[in-house]
Parts: sequence; structure tokens; C-alpha cells
Amino acid sequence: MNDVAANLAYIHEQIGAACHRVGRQESEVTLIAVTKTFPADRVREAFDAGQRDVGENRLQEAESKIPLLPAALRWHYIGQLQRNKVRKVLPLFAMIHSIDSLRLAQYTNEVARELGLFPRVFLQINLAGEESKAGFSIEELRASWESLLSLDRLEIVGLMTVPPAVDDAENSRPWFAALRALRDDLAHQTNTPLPYLSMGMSGDYEVAIEEGATHVRIGSAVFGRR
Ligand SMILES: *Cc1c(COP(=O)(O)O)cnc(C)c1O
Repeated sequence: MNDVAANLAYIHEQIGAACHRVGRQESEVTLIAVTKTFPADRVREAFDAGQRDVGENRLQEAESKIPLLPAALRWHYIGQLQRNKVRKVLPLFAMIHSIDSLRLAQYTNEVARELGLFPRVFLQINLAGEESKAGFSIEELRASWESLLSLDRLEIVGLMTVPPAVDDAENSRPWFAALRALRDDLAHQTNTPLPYLSMGMSGDYEVAIEEGATHVRIGSAVFGRR
């Protein structure tokens, strides 16, 4: 077994154990292998080991890898999305995790209509209000909610967050719990299904799963250090 296959097997074990601790089914959690900076042949090793969901955060890098790899891969766009990239991102990616403003959502909706697409998107939330990170604040999200729901081409599947970097995964737990609480609250108040939570990376995915993550985005634990 190569490193990538062994790493994936190990991560699946940890995902299973985390699910078991909180009474969830492993099938509720999608592992997205984040392939940024790693060449197509490493991605293929993951594919050969059964991995199907992969994440990239730059369009250009994805554009160079996608044609070299099996069409059965599902690509997730997880990086900051610039307006001028939307038209190219929409047809290539199965899901966008990083819709970070009402303006971007409205623009993506327009482009999706022109292209005849119904993209599945997450709204990215900047829970800690970090200057360096994109995302809706909780107040912005609440203020934008009705307008977001009126966007007829976007299927808003859930919320995504990248919490402040920490040494101890336990310190991420309050942020993950907060994203879940926000999702539960919005879904309940506005009677909208909002099934997914995209949260958790190499250092803290087990904690994220304990707090309800449905999509974990894992790079270095699969492919090694960048
Ligand atoms: C790079 C990246 C990840 C994966 O990070 P690792 O620590 O390597 O697992 C997850 N989410 C986003 C948005 C990223 O940019």
C-alpha cells in the first residue's frame, strides 16, 4: 500500500471512531481530499485507493489537473472565489464551499442562469471575525438570508467555516459547535433544509465530526506536508 492509500485508510478509521463516539453513521461524513499543491499523479493514487471527493482552492491549478484525471472524481471548490473566476468554476466543480458575500451569491446566481446550471453551494462564515479571512459575519448572514433564499439557481446546502488556527484541536470545538448552532437556528427559524456543515481539516477533523461536520476537508494528512 502506498502512503496515500495508507493515510486514507487511517483517516477513515478515525472518522469511523469519531462517528461512533457521538452516535453518528460514517456514511453521513464525506472526506474531501484537498489536493492543492500536489500533482495529478498523487491525486491518482488517492483515486486508485477509492477516494472520489477532492478539493482545490485555485481555479488555475484545478484546470491543469482535471483533464489528467478520471471523470469520476467530484471536485469541490474550497478557496476564495473571485468574480472573474465564477464562469469557469461553475462547470468544473460539483460544489462550491466558499460563497462569502451576498454580492458573490447574486453574481453566481446570474452566471448559473446563463450557463443553465443549478450549483450546490455552502455559505462561508467568518465566525471569529478574522480580518485575514473571507466569509459572512453572523449578522451579515442573518441580514442577507431572505435575499439568499430568493436566488433561484443556487441550492444552498449548508455552512462552511475555517476557524482560527490552533495548536490543540479541542480549541476548535467551540467554533464548530457555533457553526452547527447557527445552522440549526437558521434552518429552524426559516424552515429551510440546510443539511451540510463543511468544517474540519487535518488537525481537527475528529472534533469537527463530533460537533456535526458532514464534509471534512483534509489535505496534509492525506498527501503529506505542503
Ligand atoms: C488547504 C485547505 C484545507 C486543508 O488543509 P490541511 O490542513 O492540509 O488539511 C482545508 N480547507 C481549506 C479552505 C483549505 O484551503
